[in-house]
Amino acid sequence: MGDILQSLIEIVGEKGVTNSPEELWFYSRDPGVLEPHLPDFVVAPKTTEQIQKVVQLANREKIPIVPMGNGMSLTGLVIPLKGGIVMDMKRMNKILEVNAMARYAVVEGGTSQGMLKAFLQDHHPNLRHSLPDAPPTTTIAANVSLHGQGRLTQQYGFNSDMVTGLEVVLPTGEICKIGSPSLGPYWFSKGPTLPDLSGLFLGWLGTTGILTKVGLKLYPNKKIREVELFVTDRVDLVSEILYRLTHLEMLEDINVWFQPRPYLFKDNYHITIYFTGDTGEEIEFKRRMIWDAVQEFIDSKDGGFMGVDFMKDTLLEMPQRGIAGFADVPKGGGFEYSGPITLIEHFPQYAAKVIELAEKYNVLYASSARVISGGHSMMFSISFAFNRADPAMMARVKEALDEATAFALEMGGIPWKPNYMEQKMTLQKMDPNTRKLLRMIKTNLDPQGIMNPGNWEVS
Ligand SMILES: Cc1cc2nc3c(=O)[nH]c(=O)nc-3n(C[C@H](O)[C@H](O)[C@H](O)COP(=O)(O)OP(=O)(O)OC[C@H]3O[C@@H](n4cnc5c(N)ncnc54)[C@H](O)[C@@H]3O)c2cc1C
Repeated sequence: MGDILQSLIEIVGEKGVTNSPEELWFYSRDPGVLEPHLPDFVVAPKTTEQIQKVVQLANREKIPIVPMGNGMSLTGLVIPLKGGIVMDMKRMNKILEVNAMARYAVVEGGTSQGMLKAFLQDHHPNLRHSLPDAPPTTTIAANVSLHGQGRLTQQYGFNSDMVTGLEVVLPTGEICKIGSPSLGPYWFSKGPTLPDLSGLFLGWLGTTGILTKVGLKLYPNKKIREVELFVTDRVDLVSEILYRLTHLEMLEDINVWFQPRPYLFKDNYHITIYFTGDTGEEIEFKRRMIWDAVQEFIDSKDGGFMGVDFMKDTLLEMPQRGIAGFADVPKGGGFEYSGPITLIEHFPQYAAKVIELAEKYNVLYASSARVISGGHSMMFSISFAFNRADPAMMARVKEALDEATAFALEMGGIPWKPNYMEQKMTLQKMDPNTRKLLRMIKTNLDPQGIMNPGNWEVS
């Protein structure tokens, strides 16, 4: 261990490595309900070459490496299940390029969402990226590694669909460029018309390589953002309402949420509809289109628009800080969510399941669904809050989440950012030949099995 520490110090310098117990304690856990596990070292590299050398060392010594952004994915994805090195990417946080005309940015693998947002506001106010509602300290590379979703996902798909090129350190130490940067200096395309190799790294939760640079699509930042809130107590109508709204092809984001607290929101389904424009005229035109799309439900008295003046600032905030406030409702500051990707037409069954689970396990829920890519699917978030000082409550939340994943799989959904047990459940259900293909890819890319082991382990 002493030799390995010395080698790591030689690669990244003394300030970039630690094995002190206090630091290891901190890096052994995440904010969710899974058991912590200690790493042996934490390393914070500053360059791709340093990462390459650490990976080469880990290969020689067969030491696990867990890439980590901000550790906020909540499902234990950065808990070093088999010890080894946690590689904290935060010191690689440069914004390397913005091509304003081609609307893309290139960032280092530890750049946070907040940094890119602030940089664009200051230097390219006409441009924006698809910001998730996660804390602004969370990283862009991690978000695409887990197929995250953000404010522009309704229009343009998963944030990982917005990648325009990658630089990756492979588990065997080679530095590899994916997409147009493999042919020249431009980062405009991750795949077409080449075979799209980005799929070897997006969604793999850091098990097939370390993303050291990410190219990301940027989009027009319109001058005005607006929000409408449509409310119905008819869960059976939600899918149809979403269908009508997505038909408009002009909304920024659509979220459906329901929660028992505060009482004001109980027993209703709230559809938050975001839209943007450069002029008041454009906004009013879009508002009229939105109203027209759901007029039938207003006429039948099955729903209506709720005045949002009292909560407009909260709704328009990006990211929405209020989401984390849910963690403090039962006191003790914890929440975790499972977020299956599924069909919008299954909304009523998922909604019923959340309420059933909350009653069965005596836990507090809040649920929301984000429409993806014009309605081809949605991310249905099943969130339960817990008190960190109450292990029994945490155990109940864990059971409820496991049951939610089993339900999502039964319903033909795909678990999102699944923890290692949910990954096993998913692999068990998967078509055997698909599973075999996953195994072939993984064993070829990572023959020593050092990358984030315990995750996506295909036997
Ligand atoms: C209040 C709240 C709201 C949230 N809202 C959203 C939301 O709207 N949309 C959304 O998508 N998510 C959301 N999340 C979930 C999560 O925080 C985000 O997905 C976030 O992007 C995770 O980033 P991170 O840097 O914390 O990732 P981490 O937890 O550090 O890492 C996530 C995964 O990526 C891997 N990884 C990290 N860096 C790299 C790298 N450079 N190369 C390869 N693999 C890497 C890790 O090994 C791990 O498997 C929310 C979370 C909270 C707490």
